Amino acid sequence: MPKIVLEHVTKRWGNFYGAKDLNIVLEDREFVTLLGPSGCGKTTTLRMIAGLETPTEGKITIGDTVVFDSETGINLSPAKRDVGFLFQNYALWPHMTVYKNITFGLENVRVPGEDGKMRRLTKAETEERVNEVCDMLKIQQFRDRYPSELSGGQQQRVAIARTLATHPKVLFMDEPLSNLDAKLRAEMRTELKRMHRDMNSTFVYVTHDQLEAMTLATNICLMNNGLVQQFDPPLTVYNKPANLFVADFIGNPTMNFIPGVIEEVKGSEATVSFFGIKAKFKGDQEIPEGIKDIIVGVRPEFLPIHEKGKLKGLAYGTLPAGMETTVKINFNDEILSSVVFGSIDYAIDSEIRFDIVGDGILLYDYASKNVLGRGTLEILEIGEYHRGSEEPFKIELVAPGTNPNEGVGEPGKGKKKKGLKKAKKEKVEEPAPVAEKAPVEEEEAPAEEVEEPSEEPKEE
Ligand code: ATP
Repeated sequence: MPKIVLEHVTKRWGNFYGAKDLNIVLEDREFVTLLGPSGCGKTTTLRMIAGLETPTEGKITIGDTVVFDSETGINLSPAKRDVGFLFQNYALWPHMTVYKNITFGLENVRVPGEDGKMRRLTKAETEERVNEVCDMLKIQQFRDRYPSELSGGQQQRVAIARTLATHPKVLFMDEPLSNLDAKLRAEMRTELKRMHRDMNSTFVYVTHDQLEAMTLATNICLMNNGLVQQFDPPLTVYNKPANLFVADFIGNPTMNFIPGVIEEVKGSEATVSFFGIKAKFKGDQEIPEGIKDIIVGVRPEFLPIHEKGKLKGLAYGTLPAGMETTVKINFNDEILSSVVFGSIDYAIDSEIRFDIVGDGILLYDYASKNVLGRGTLEILEIGEYHRGSEEPFKIELVAPGTNPNEGVGEPGKGKKKKGLKKAKKEKVEEPAPVAEKAPVEEEEAPAEEVEEPSEEPKEE
């Protein structure tokens, strides 16, 4: 069963790093989401594992097979990596019905027969698989239609069905739900999760949507500037973000970042002051001596609003969403976000009393941007506070000198290409279409035909 290991994997175009020194282990049957802002290297990483992009250096192993090794020159084609693909810009065969689109990929599937030899699927097995995916994706009623007779969302469901029907051991997905409307997207997330459990496959899923990454994954690989920022289960990433970038990227509404200083440190405890407040932080890890500037990270749910709150502010703005309300609190001219559960609203500029509570308060070192601990905060004193400047404190999320592409800019040459064409250009050992698993991403062929659909599409 396939465990995927990346060792020192780097992709560079000139001196621009698409991905740098990736060292990650995707355990068998994991559902890993590659998450990060646009251009952070998610797709490049996925494509390197899949064999669609050739790394500049490093080693990639899938199961027991080394599929890429820059030192020995091994570079297996996508077709030989026993993987399935599902991309945002899927391509269905326009001259085939939905049914044919799904069964086409199944023609190359081999399963062990009773005599131990590999054989094709029987007609009954093929029907069973088609029914299974058509039910799951709610496309039974479209089985006899051609792609041009379907909406974009319906076409995308067919593309998902076609890939899943082949039961790939590893399934790579790049923003596969992006064409679906919000309701269907939410439904599909639930189905994908169930499918993952039922299929015994390893799923690698690219998304820039943090909610999607959080809700689907067994592990999130969060990237920025071609570097892995954190690789952990979703709740660990949410509860203890490794650095300020992760803390800011995960969570909606976003975490409050409060600049402050450490006055005294003793083991995992520190006396800190921020916004005129003096407080005792009790964390879960040793805090190094000598750190002065810090950021206190407080998720909005740890700023509860209630009449007896110790802290006083004004309602700067409210966003009631029905189930919960996000409240922006003006606290001594600094704006903090709180979230209140239930259908509650506050008049703008009305007085708000609130507290800082909970065991999920975070402390970050402002110089390195790294987490110093997660724990509780006990308020000792509330004093006067006046911001020193007109402008709010600007918090840099990435430590200086840590971005490998700082000052490099975008690579001048080489256009970003998705699909197999890139693999061909880079002389991947065998650039054959990956039709073994699905007639995927040969974007050119079906796309051309889509423009001029035949009047009377022929059945195969
Ligand atoms: P998005 O969410 O926008 O798809 P991403 O995180 O998937 O972004 P990648 O597609 O992996 O980002 O690209 C990472 C960086 O590498 C980007 O800055 C991109 O412009 C650059 N890049 C990607 N492919 C190439 C290429 N073939 N030649 C040069 N630069 C490239």
